[in-house]
Amino acid sequence: MRTTYHVVVIGGGSTGAALVHDLVLRGFKVTLVERGELTSGTAGRHHGLLHSGGRYAVNDQESAIECIEENIILRKIAPGSFEENDGLFVAITDEDVAYLDKFLAGCETCHIPTRVLTAAQVKRLEPHINPQVKLAVQVPDATMDCWRLPMRFFATAKHNGADIRPYNEVIGMLITAGTVTGVRVRSHVTGQEYDLKADIVVNATGAWAEKVSEMAHARVPVKPTPGVMVAVRGRWCNMVINRLNKPSDGDIIVPQRGLSVIGTTSWTVEDPDRLGLPEDHVRRMFEKGGELIPAVKHAPMRAAWAAARPLIAEGGAQEGRELPRTFKCFDHKVRDGIEGLVTISGGKGTTMRAMAEATANVVCDKLGLDIPCRTKEVVLLPYWAYYQ
Ligand SMILES: Cc1cc2nc3c(=O)[nH]c(=O)nc-3n(C[C@H](O)[C@H](O)[C@H](O)COP(=O)(O)OP(=O)(O)OC[C@H]3O[C@@H](n4cnc5c(N)ncnc54)[C@H](O)[C@@H]3O)c2cc1C
Repeated sequence: MRTTYHVVVIGGGSTGAALVHDLVLRGFKVTLVERGELTSGTAGRHHGLLHSGGRYAVNDQESAIECIEENIILRKIAPGSFEENDGLFVAITDEDVAYLDKFLAGCETCHIPTRVLTAAQVKRLEPHINPQVKLAVQVPDATMDCWRLPMRFFATAKHNGADIRPYNEVIGMLITAGTVTGVRVRSHVTGQEYDLKADIVVNATGAWAEKVSEMAHARVPVKPTPGVMVAVRGRWCNMVINRLNKPSDGDIIVPQRGLSVIGTTSWTVEDPDRLGLPEDHVRRMFEKGGELIPAVKHAPMRAAWAAARPLIAEGGAQEGRELPRTFKCFDHKVRDGIEGLVTISGGKGTTMRAMAEATANVVCDKLGLDIPCRTKEVVLLPYWAYYQ
């Protein structure tokens, strides 16, 4: 079924990618505008960890459940996109061991499968692990390519009729009598400015969501929360290695092809275009990563970079790691009295499909349509189909 409604999506990260895919499957005419290259925001710069939810199973169970549910769905709709290597939460100290019961209980509540391994079993699986290791818990984490996975959503959406425009930046909103009726766009390819009319505009600009919603005098409580990652030469683990403790700095190592990516830290900024790369954070990645796998401490650095999480900070003065990793979809009619504008933010790369489903449901509700979501079943085209 085709509707005559036109939806404009702003932001070509993983959330925008999954959203255009969902909306064209539901029969909408869809145009996506991205100011830079597709996935050039946070989506193309993360660790590449397909979360099992284990990381959030104790302190952020809503997010943990979203992760395990989407982990299962993504493997089904994007076969070949993941290295199905699983993850280990390793205990190095007695304090880590004391966290075990809480961790296992949290995983059970969130339906995350676990297997407890002895130190000897861990050393057999991961010969470079800290020899002080006391035990580990195996969970269904996996390695993914953070650029290619969203490109599979873009490829499928494009083949189903979505109009995807990288290097086109939204510089203003078209507003008539309190209703957003479209966006003003500047093409960085031609240098021209033009208007794009829409029945609904969706702001999927991640850490930039507040800046973009302000163009319509709307507000979203998004806190850009960067983290540093360091890639070192050498594949020092086969599985994703996490510290068995509450989330902290440098407690994840993801094997990516012939490299190991150590992450991450957490601080907040006002402007997601000015993150910087604090040197002490880079040093901390080597130190803390070295507690998990000593060899990474002296491994040659291949790259270091930062990216900003688009976290939702509502009510209270929470910062950084205390902020939930869940996502929220804001209908600005309800929130600010502004019709025609919806914002989606928060979440993880892992939960991109669920974020898109929730947002497309809001779009349908606003237009009085009842069209079911099909993205749990439709198998995605390969990433390279985007270019054909
Ligand atoms: C350090 C770190 C590590 C992480 N590790 C993982 C991980 O291992 N696994 C995982 O699942 N998740 C991870 N995440 C979370 C994940 O990266 C993000 O949740 C996700 O990438 C956000 O995607 P997005 O599409 O919402 O935002 P983005 O990818 O940032 O997309 C927003 C887009 O909007 C564009 N934009 C902004 N303003 C405009 C405008 N005016 N006009 C047009 N376009 C505009 C931007 O250029 C950008 O491309 C990590 C995050 C960080 C910071």
